[in-house]
Amino acid sequence: MEKNRETLPSVNASAAGLSDAAVRVAALRKEIEHHTYQYYALDDPQISDAAFDSLMGELRELEAAHPELVDPTSPTQRVGGYVGEAFAPVRHASRMYSLDNAMDFGELEAWMARIEEALGFVPPLCCELKIDGSSIALTYEGGVLLRAATRGDGTTGEDVTANMRTVKDVPLHLREGALAAVRDPEGALELRGEVYMPKSSFEALNRQAEANGKPLFANPRNAAAGSLRQKNAEVTSERDLATFVYATADDAALDVAGQWELLQWLRSAGFHTNPDVALCERPEEAFAFCERSLERREQLPYEIDGVVVKVNSFAAQRELGFTARAPRWAIAFKFPPEEKTTILRDITVQVGRTGALTPVAELEPVVVAGSTVARATLHNVDEVHRKDVRVGDTVVVRKAGDVIPEVLGPVLSLRPEDALPWEMPKACPSCGSPVVHEDGEVAYRCISIDCPAQSLERLLHWTSRSALDIEGMGNEIVGRLVETGRLVDVADYYDLTEPELAALATNRVNGEGEFLPLGHVIAAKLVAAIDGSRTKGLDRVIFGLGIRHVGKNVAEVLARAFGSIDALMAATAEEMEAVDGVGPKIAQSLEAFFATPDNVEVLGRLRAAGVAMESAEPAGEALPQTLAGLTFVLTGSLVESGMTRDEAAGRLKALGAKVSGSVSKKTSYVVAGQDAGSKLDKALGLGVPVLDEAQLLALLDAEGDVAVLG
Ligand code: AMP
Repeated sequence: MEKNRETLPSVNASAAGLSDAAVRVAALRKEIEHHTYQYYALDDPQISDAAFDSLMGELRELEAAHPELVDPTSPTQRVGGYVGEAFAPVRHASRMYSLDNAMDFGELEAWMARIEEALGFVPPLCCELKIDGSSIALTYEGGVLLRAATRGDGTTGEDVTANMRTVKDVPLHLREGALAAVRDPEGALELRGEVYMPKSSFEALNRQAEANGKPLFANPRNAAAGSLRQKNAEVTSERDLATFVYATADDAALDVAGQWELLQWLRSAGFHTNPDVALCERPEEAFAFCERSLERREQLPYEIDGVVVKVNSFAAQRELGFTARAPRWAIAFKFPPEEKTTILRDITVQVGRTGALTPVAELEPVVVAGSTVARATLHNVDEVHRKDVRVGDTVVVRKAGDVIPEVLGPVLSLRPEDALPWEMPKACPSCGSPVVHEDGEVAYRCISIDCPAQSLERLLHWTSRSALDIEGMGNEIVGRLVETGRLVDVADYYDLTEPELAALATNRVNGEGEFLPLGHVIAAKLVAAIDGSRTKGLDRVIFGLGIRHVGKNVAEVLARAFGSIDALMAATAEEMEAVDGVGPKIAQSLEAFFATPDNVEVLGRLRAAGVAMESAEPAGEALPQTLAGLTFVLTGSLVESGMTRDEAAGRLKALGAKVSGSVSKKTSYVVAGQDAGSKLDKALGLGVPVLDEAQLLALLDAEGDVAVLG
């Protein structure tokens, strides 16, 4: 119920000089802002959601009828438009640092000892939950939200203002009373926090993605980061993001003396601040906060990956200062990766496109690090035996890097008495052909040409993003086309017609239990995507063919070296091995592929269908070895280019560079992608220059123009 609020002026109550509508609009905005503040910042709603929606509805109607009253800071202006192709770069007012980690209590204690050494005592510490989202910087000018930016490389982020405006707990302007503590109320004020996706919203989003056959997000953090970087802010507005704000870019900009006080001020200014904070006078209290938070982790409605312990006083923070990477006055006490136990219901066998058989753990579904895990690869028979996991076991699961589900091992004391060691089946689960195990290979294989599981995987490989990138041609549609006998090999894609695709039955059923057809809209998109794949380039064709040992990188190298599929087919093993990055195994595999008449026939049909089999670049020209003599180390993930580290390494090597796995004084450059780890620390420690992904790309695109390194 609403408490102590003045009644709203009605449309008829006019104020001097202002139209009735203007008065009502102003009153509605104020009222809505008040309730937004109660709801998000104070977590104390005073009116029902329906009443709130009704106020918003009225404001929207009035603004629509009086376009002259529309104001960018109105609460109705949260639904954004199209952002455009690229997010503009934004330089942060001061560097957005990362945090040093304490992996256990010993390391936390060591950090406190360093503080004590520097200051002579351990001052009060402010402990906060470490929210597992994406960092965000919000700049206000004259109290009005001007800009929102991602952390980026710490110095320069991306402008995501349109997207952040749609996040409902971000104030579009600061509450008036709070401006008194801002030293320059008219100037710019940059505040920082974390944007995250609540666990329940993440689950709903993934359920919806699954129903629509779209790829799933690995965890709430990725979902938040992905939602934030949408080109269409309307998509962001539907994603239910939220924020916790906890920092300022410049503590001198505010009349507050420390972190605790800052949090109170942020709350009074209208920000959503996390209620789980503790101002700890003594170190033991900080340890207790960490322990308590770890215990409560699962009950929280959002993901956390640790506790951030900060020296509370800004004066003491200034005295302690920063290292190259992180503040000395704060540390992230990291929680261990979440582990759960569940039942191993079965071990099934998946048939890959090269016929390799992979055992897969079928688990009783369990939520780990934010998402439900029901399957995990067990890689190969040796791994199953090494881990000694058996059907019926209670097993421990976690997500490697918070993304890939992994079975760690069994809880032996809970093993059922009749549980038997697992063996690879003797026959392929898809086609029943005998399974073979070649000497010296870990993998068991089905070598039948007619194995339907293999052909499905091969057909899907052709359409995958790194190959011919035929968007929409996924498991369901390809599976159905294989079932109906319409798709046998990759050349068959090119005579699919729109009417036959439109009529294809899907897995969706109508009220009468009939399977619904795919329909013309999707069919037309598929035909356009197939058409577009004709000119994707020779390297993608070579990769898409799914020849054993020929990955993306090798395919690129081959395309560049031979220039056409004909030249590659005509090459001897010796000529192939003369290409950098191609060894005897790859050459043998290529020869065997081209010696198979069926494969040559498919290539002929692809050519007849207009699929480009020549490389646009002149053949045979080796790249200039401009990076010869330089040693690179890659760390973190390369998010902008979507390259794997191996691919990046391949391209560096093609320019003559060496790529090493560890950092030493001899390392020329460390390339740090997102979430770069200890290698980056080591590089900074040794004074090895660090490149970000943009610099790496510039370097590769310039094909070794070393000037960009300067
Ligand atoms: P890391 O990325 O692991 O180096 O951790 C640093 C990041 O933790 C910061 O950039 C913030 O985005 C994030 N973070 C989450 N919660 C907090 C918090 N309460 N205080 C400071 N940083 C936080």
